[in-house]
Amino acid sequence: MRPPVRPAPQTIQRLVEIVGRSNAIVEAQEMEPYLREWRERWIGKAAAVLKPQNADEVSRILKIANEMLVPIVAQGGNTGAVGGQIPSDSGDEVVMSLTRLNRIREIDAVDNSITVEAGVSLRSVQEAAEAADRLFPLSLGAEGSCTIGGNLATNAGGISVVGYGNARALTLGVEVVLADGRIWNGLRRLRKDNTGYDLKDIFIGSEGTLGIITAAVLTLFPRPLDRATALAAVSDPEAALPLFHLANGISGGRVTAIEIIPRIGIEFIERHSPLRSPLGAPAPWYVLVEVAGAGPSGVLQLAMEKMLGEAFERQLISDAAIASSEAQRRSLWDMRESLSLVQKAEGGSIKHDVSVPLSKIPAFLREATAAVERLIPGARPVPFGHIGDGNIHFNISQPVGADAQAFLARWEDVSKAVFDIVLRLGGSISAEHGIGRLKRDYMPIIKSPVERAMMKDLKQVLDPNGILHPGKVLP
Ligand code: FAD
Repeated sequence: MRPPVRPAPQTIQRLVEIVGRSNAIVEAQEMEPYLREWRERWIGKAAAVLKPQNADEVSRILKIANEMLVPIVAQGGNTGAVGGQIPSDSGDEVVMSLTRLNRIREIDAVDNSITVEAGVSLRSVQEAAEAADRLFPLSLGAEGSCTIGGNLATNAGGISVVGYGNARALTLGVEVVLADGRIWNGLRRLRKDNTGYDLKDIFIGSEGTLGIITAAVLTLFPRPLDRATALAAVSDPEAALPLFHLANGISGGRVTAIEIIPRIGIEFIERHSPLRSPLGAPAPWYVLVEVAGAGPSGVLQLAMEKMLGEAFERQLISDAAIASSEAQRRSLWDMRESLSLVQKAEGGSIKHDVSVPLSKIPAFLREATAAVERLIPGARPVPFGHIGDGNIHFNISQPVGADAQAFLARWEDVSKAVFDIVLRLGGSISAEHGIGRLKRDYMPIIKSPVERAMMKDLKQVLDPNGILHPGKVLP
């Protein structure tokens, strides 16, 4: 693998000509929005930002980049959480923004499929599905801005994985441009296709390091006509797990989301937003649960009532409120979705996106909280997230009145302690956000030599010159 080089002005000129001057940015100041991510954790530099319009332009750019060894960084909605979409600060890299590949090519209600280009926003896909009386269930806080290309490249998760699976499970086919410019049209819409290696799965979750995704066929579901949502108070995470299984059992496997929220999260919400918990006395933990399905209206409301009644009897919950209108349901979800924002108002926060087997969640929460308190007395863990997937966002707010920068300077120490516990419990240090730049140096710890060698070999075959995202994912 030869090291990528700073592109010569003539090379930049050739690249700009492919997309046209109005779709290229070469002035440093105008590039700014593409060079920093939302938390300002990474701020890079670039030789140019190119905005191709179709797979053919992507292909022509990559052909030249491969020949001239120009490093390329793909970017969709720039909402990624591990810095993969931001170029390094060398100024040698070219950012390729995919947002102009924004056509919904086809929606087929009989096949339950939708074919979209990589730059279409997740919300646009959800809306197109709804217009065809179907559901595209992928759902996450950034859905108004993130793109399908970014969702597939990071194998995004979100709140409905417990019911429908992650981005990988929702993808039937992909169109990818390889590092040397060849276009692979893998836009199949088959649910069964055992004809050799499933190549689409190599690109999903590869964070742009193996190829640029230009389009995808996604799978659709019947629109849920019946739905019930409740917030329940529980004394500890141990009680949340039987509640999940109870809800799934009574609803016939219809739990489409189940989230855990700690008391401190509700306190932050009530302090920094107009939202209020519908429950009376404060409880140590809360579980937000939703069941949904295509059956007759009202059935799942009854199932939810039955489930909560049984949970009271078994002393799993101490209080509960079922949303009786769409506005009440929305307000419960707004509470959950505002957690990151309200945490910001409490000063610096150190964040982790981890997963452990479901049965290990209580032990993980106990041990990680104790470890953080030992390292930084007064630090305030705010662990919340997708408890049905074993995926906890183990966020920690700074001690009250502490200096935010001094607290954030402990990020590495804290992460090491948290990750040690995750790995000991058989978990993953990145449940849904990916590796990018943030977790790259953990790869030798989390992957065996055989696994790392296979990943390197794949990279060598698909991107022998190492032009795609140098320094990301692989150490
Ligand atoms: P970008 O940020 O632009 O890029 C992300 C990565 O994908 C980069 O490595 C980039 O190079 C690569 N990439 C982008 N487009 C392509 C392409 N076409 N081909 C190849 N590579 C490409 N994530 C979750 O999984 N679950 C959540 O619940 C969740 N909640 C979030 C909530 C908020 C408020 C925010 C800001 C982010 C959240 N995220 C979540 C993270 C983020 O939204 C997802 O990772 C999303 O999938 C990124 O999409 P994007 O279009 O913004 O990609």
